Amino acid sequence: METRVLPPDDEGIAAAAEVVRRRGTVAFPTETVYGLGADALSARAVAKVFAAKERPRFDPVIVHVADPSDVELLWTEVPLLAQSLMDRFWPGPLTLVLPRRRRVPPIVTAGLPTVAVRMPAHPVALALLRAAGRPIAAPSANRFGRLSPTHHEDVLEQLGGRVDAVIAGGPTPVGIESTVVSLVEEPPTVLRPGGTPVEALREVVPDLRLAPPSGPSASPGTLPRHYVPATPLYLLEGGPVEGGRTLDRIQCGILAFREPWAGFGRAEVLSPKGDLVEAASHFFAALHRLEGANLAAIVAEPVPEEGLGIAIMDRLRRAAAGRASVLGDRVVWTR
Ligand code: AMP
Ligand code: MG
Repeated sequence: METRVLPPDDEGIAAAAEVVRRRGTVAFPTETVYGLGADALSARAVAKVFAAKERPRFDPVIVHVADPSDVELLWTEVPLLAQSLMDRFWPGPLTLVLPRRRRVPPIVTAGLPTVAVRMPAHPVALALLRAAGRPIAAPSANRFGRLSPTHHEDVLEQLGGRVDAVIAGGPTPVGIESTVVSLVEEPPTVLRPGGTPVEALREVVPDLRLAPPSGPSASPGTLPRHYVPATPLYLLEGGPVEGGRTLDRIQCGILAFREPWAGFGRAEVLSPKGDLVEAASHFFAALHRLEGANLAAIVAEPVPEEGLGIAIMDRLRRAAAGRASVLGDRVVWTR
């Protein structure tokens, strides 16, 4: 199929909404990353999203709504805590998981009795949701397991010819996926750290718990290995690595937090001023550039684990093929 590239104006949004109403697939910008959307209440439409992404059916997708009141279509009830979180954080990068109504097709929820919902804070996403007049199921607009797209060109690279349309809406401001919180667990549990900092959520939910990265209560889609760059990535974590393989710095790229490291073939700096919000917004694009630089390996410097740094470290640990250390002009790593 030919993928239409639509402008983010009224006409482009009307055309994209028509694709959704006809049960097609449209990639669109949200404040987190680009999503690949389809009519959330049509199993046939959502199946096309899974097919285009080659996403396994056990990985549920997030349903996007134009207005907080739309959750009544999707959840059997709206507890007070959900209402407080929606009041404070919607529209925004926070996804809430609650029991689903029967009209939500099982393919959306991977057969789970719950459905994940959020209201995005992006004018194009909201305009599309309003024009389509229905909730839109949308996982990130990448091939399964690959880097999430923060620009429409990344979407075309991975999904061009596999989806009906892409809205070219510029770079996505937050740059990292939403925080997913389950309200069916006691206490409420962060299934995936993301664009809404855990510290801010704790102001509303003091007993909020962080699920272990791949424990039994972690989200079905949060596989231990995810976000796999095409070039192997190693994390500079946990002291010197002994034994492993060795390469010259010049053959490797460094994903640095505040300052470039000398001697590497290529360096990407996430935030010279050490701002984790800025770092998150550059994260996937920086990894994408390193991936394209034909390096033997990428080594990533850890960022502080607070605020959006928790989400960045979650993505880095999943992307990492192992640990590394830098000794003089050499990089040593192990699997
Ligand atoms: P993506 O849309 O690609 O950012 O991924 C959506 C993620 O949200 C999934 O991989 C799950 O981790 C999580 N999720 C979606 N629906 C549910 C649900 N019903 N219960 C738990 N986690 C969910
Ligand atoms: Mg994804």
